Amino acid sequence: MQIGIPRETLAGETRVAATPDTVKKLMAAGHQVLIERQAGYAARYRDADYEAAGATLGDAAQALGSALVLKVRRPTPAELSAMSAGTVLLGMLDPFDIDGLKTLADAGLTAFALEAAPRTTRAQSLDVLSSQANLAGYKSVLLATQYYGRIFPMMMTAAGTLKAARVVVLGAGVAGLQAIATARRLGAVVEASDVRPAAREQVESLGGKFIDVPYETDEEREIAQGTGGYARPMPAAWMARQAELVAQRCKQADIVITTALIPGRPAPVLIQPETVEAMKPGSVVVDLAVERGGNCPLSVAGEVIDHNGVTLVGLTNLPALLATDASALYARNLLDFLKLIINAEGQLALPADDDIIKACLVCQDGTLLRSA
Ligand code: NAD
Repeated sequence: MQIGIPRETLAGETRVAATPDTVKKLMAAGHQVLIERQAGYAARYRDADYEAAGATLGDAAQALGSALVLKVRRPTPAELSAMSAGTVLLGMLDPFDIDGLKTLADAGLTAFALEAAPRTTRAQSLDVLSSQANLAGYKSVLLATQYYGRIFPMMMTAAGTLKAARVVVLGAGVAGLQAIATARRLGAVVEASDVRPAAREQVESLGGKFIDVPYETDEEREIAQGTGGYARPMPAAWMARQAELVAQRCKQADIVITTALIPGRPAPVLIQPETVEAMKPGSVVVDLAVERGGNCPLSVAGEVIDHNGVTLVGLTNLPALLATDASALYARNLLDFLKLIINAEGQLALPADDDIIKACLVCQDGTLLRSA
């Protein structure tokens, strides 16, 4: 099969869907790989290394014209116009954005949105949300250090003692847990909150303190379990108790990193503007949920702003700031997904009963398989 790797064209998207390493593996499996010139440039992978791995260099139209196209982000209308009906597309395609998926179906594609894979052991190696969120969690802490006018570890010097930074992490999923681990490595004191009861043990095992919001009803306890590993919107009474505790903890904190998400919905608001206004000057809030409305209504997508001496970091697409590693992990996720949909003869074959394929297949030969 000819596999095409176009250069990503969305602003700020520095990642690439294949690395020289994964190209070598695709070639070994008997495919031909056509990669757009400079596709890996922003992620610091050289054309010469792709060629050495066996890929042919070409232009965007050739890459998009391949039978199977590997992308990072959903193709733009211009990219779609270069793809022909029947093309198989793999990428992070925004599976909850039905209008966006419709553009893929209208172009006659068979498309797999890898973000929709179930959170199961078998799907772990192709879990793009985990591979990218892990890096985003790490980078969120480094961004906080950049905008914070103090240091993270406690330091005793001849000129006086500097206190350790207090970090609060809201949402202890993949990104939040990595943020906790990274902040701890830098010597910060860390507290974290999550709705899911399983998060407590994970936070504590990383040396963080769990901000406990006890469940007061069976309904709260039941909803907090989530579905398929994901959170569900909590009842208003629990959210109000959480907001009170979070406000208290944020007033004491130097850094707040928020990562709370609920699939297919706007991000829950966890830090009210009054809470930001009560924070210490010099504090930093990094809102990783900003693209989905934000966990703090004051954060602005794509911007770093100052609000009464508190810095709100609303930068988006943090994995793209770590493009080399983010691409390496993402490209490997794609490689593992391909093993599920390509048979020993190198042809597309979709087993009807595979839960991962069923979850990720958003349109097939132009038919949209998702509804609002
Ligand atoms: P996510 O990005 O959807 O959400 C981030 C976190 O925000 C989650 O932990 C969620 O519980 C939390 N959250 C939502 N509403 C909140 C609120 N009001 N207050 C505080 N926290 C709130 O989630 P994710 O990081 O993708 O991971 C979700 C779960 O899936 C985790 O338990 C993770 O360990 C699990 N997981 C399992 C596998 C696997 O078994 N293969 C792979 C990856 C992730």
